[in-house]
Amino acid sequence: MKIPQYVIKAMNSLNHAGYECYLVGGCVRDTLMGNEPHDYDLTTSALPEQMLTVFNGCKIIETGLKHGTITLLTDGGPIEITTFRIDGEYKDNRRPENVIFTPKLSEDLARRDFTVNAIAMDKEGNLVDLYGGENDIRSKIIRCVGDPEKRFNEDGLRILRALRFASTLNFEIHPDTEKAIFKLTYLLKNISAERVREELFKLLCGVSAKAVLINYADVILPFLQPISREDLVQFAEIAEKLPLSAEIRMAALFALYSNTTKLKSAMQALKPSNKQIKSAENCCDIIQLPPTSPTQTALLIGQLGEKEFNLYLQTAKACGKDISATLQTVDDLKSRNACYNLHQLALTGADLIELGVKGKKVGDMLQTLFTAVAEGKVKNEKYQLLNYIKNQT
Ligand code: ATP
Ligand code: MG
Repeated sequence: MKIPQYVIKAMNSLNHAGYECYLVGGCVRDTLMGNEPHDYDLTTSALPEQMLTVFNGCKIIETGLKHGTITLLTDGGPIEITTFRIDGEYKDNRRPENVIFTPKLSEDLARRDFTVNAIAMDKEGNLVDLYGGENDIRSKIIRCVGDPEKRFNEDGLRILRALRFASTLNFEIHPDTEKAIFKLTYLLKNISAERVREELFKLLCGVSAKAVLINYADVILPFLQPISREDLVQFAEIAEKLPLSAEIRMAALFALYSNTTKLKSAMQALKPSNKQIKSAENCCDIIQLPPTSPTQTALLIGQLGEKEFNLYLQTAKACGKDISATLQTVDDLKSRNACYNLHQLALTGADLIELGVKGKKVGDMLQTLFTAVAEGKVKNEKYQLLNYIKNQT
């Protein structure tokens, strides 16, 4: 097991100051699975103020300090370091109200959600695995640390996290954990939209999204209203073939079984960025009705950019739509050197004003020219465009 040097350096700093320090969570799990971790989290016996002393003079972000977390900014990348802690009382199944720091690693591991996420590793690669996490990784099992019902009651989001890990890691959920998931699904109602979105979107993009969407449709459906159970199960068959983007997969689901307006409501409820909502809407529109008219196609390419337009078009194809007419239109547009937005016209608004065109007429005329070029009625050349206008008026 190869721990990057910048992480070893941070671990050494804490160890040399007399504190315990371990890698923990996703980075240990991923390493044991033979995958390269996307980031490294450390857990330590040093209290927040002690961490600040150890890393005095280093670049640090203190945003999570209240919960015992600092982010150390190193040349190799950021490292999150958290003091061993026990989560305090959970209000509304959301977040611990407060956290209690502890000198014991075992107590820190006990608060973690699943056995596969509760393994600690020191810098020599020795494991502290109190809940059989390594074994569960080998058997590809997601299992709560401790009593599943108690753990889900503490934090309902863990229900969705179990599904997320099953989907992204291609693991099965242990029968006891699964039983508690179905019994306590309602707890997800109390979880903030942002936390739900993060897990749901990762779930939708997992390698095993199909199995999870089918097996846990009842858990996921409340976030996909008004999609029916049957439709979600049918959608699962193609989900994994779609581009690796949650908003595109949401768009495909709603394009096939609902509509853009309902998609917008479902997306808004999960509070992603406006850009994500808009992308989903555009994608849904194209899947439902791939454009065929030259004007509409040119406008869409101009608005979305060619790369995004093609991605949505390929999504439409993966959803079983016939996109041959659109592809033909795109070919035609290219062969006649059409433009994709008004700014690409060889005649500008300034040219028209110079010719004496005034006010709103300038915009109208540019639009007329754009449509004419897209439809192949005139070439996108200044002289030809001028002639076209003269003949029109
Ligand atoms: P990823 O590779 O997706 O980042 P991860 O396992 O690192 O996976 P995070 O959400 O980054 O997942 O959380 C880091 C660790 O913190 C987890 O591995 C787990 O030990 C613990 N953890 C995170 N969220 C919870 C939670 N809601 N309840 C209990 N433990 C949690
Ligand atoms: Mg992580």
